[in-house]
Amino acid sequence: STVLEVARLNKRYPTGDLALRDVDLRIGRGEVVALIGPSGAGKSTLIRCVNRLVQPTSGSVRLDGTEVTDLGSASLRRARRRMGMIFQEYALIERLTVMENALSGRLGYVGFWRSWFRRFPTTDVAEAFTLLIRVGLSDMANKRADALSGGQRQRVGIVRALMQRPELLLVDEPTASLDPKTSRQIMRLILELCTERGLAAIINIHDVALARQFAQRIVGLRAGVIVFDGPPNSLDAAA
Ligand code: ADP
Ligand code: ADP
Repeated sequence: STVLEVARLNKRYPTGDLALRDVDLRIGRGEVVALIGPSGAGKSTLIRCVNRLVQPTSGSVRLDGTEVTDLGSASLRRARRRMGMIFQEYALIERLTVMENALSGRLGYVGFWRSWFRRFPTTDVAEAFTLLIRVGLSDMANKRADALSGGQRQRVGIVRALMQRPELLLVDEPTASLDPKTSRQIMRLILELCTERGLAAIINIHDVALARQFAQRIVGLRAGVIVFDGPPNSLDAAA
């Protein structure tokens, strides 16, 4: 079944830049898509139109059948809870521990601070701990976020996104601040977790070699147009 359906999506920024032109994209349950293309191709804009950090100029974005382009703020917040987001900059809460950052995924920012005073349900803590074990961070659970390396921070970002129990993962340049070896580990981890959970993902990745190595489906953007959509092995023929 279809998790995300983007149809005839256009984005023109106030500056006049036409960042997306009639983009059509359909992503099924469990499907992991790597978005590649040169800088300025529109990859970030596409991801931001899905979570509505950017308002598209025209066209449709449906998450599990729900049109997200015209949602009001309360429904938009609900829709965003169904999308796990993983960023280049990690965006962890620095003064809080690994465990606390992981738990914040369950509740969102406001809910997090409310529950903080009442303590979290033990089932949430257990789930977060299981995920921290899975990503190799169980012995860091009580460390503050600002004491972690880049790769460790990204693992916490992944756990936090999964604590949301999302239907779709949006991943924007997850390895841009990481060294090549850590980048491969993080990409492999994201892919394995998606496979284990049957979770769909869009990964904006500028490193084509990494995309080919880890994704079964690659979508190539150029000047706001999809110029390639297929498995890595047919990328050579197209290039
Ligand atoms: P990519 O992620 O592939 O590098 P972007 O989506 O960031 O591409 O950018 C696509 C195009 O939209 C570029 O021409 C870029 O300059 C333009 N653009 C991106 N963000 C903005 C913005 N906030 N305001 C105006 N133009 C923007
Ligand atoms: P990326 O290529 O990873 O999307 P950039 O470094 O190009 O990121 O852009 C960083 C920020 O600047 C983003 O928020 C983007 O939307 C914005 N931006 C990019 N291009 C433009 C532009 N031409 N005018 C205004 N803002 C832009």
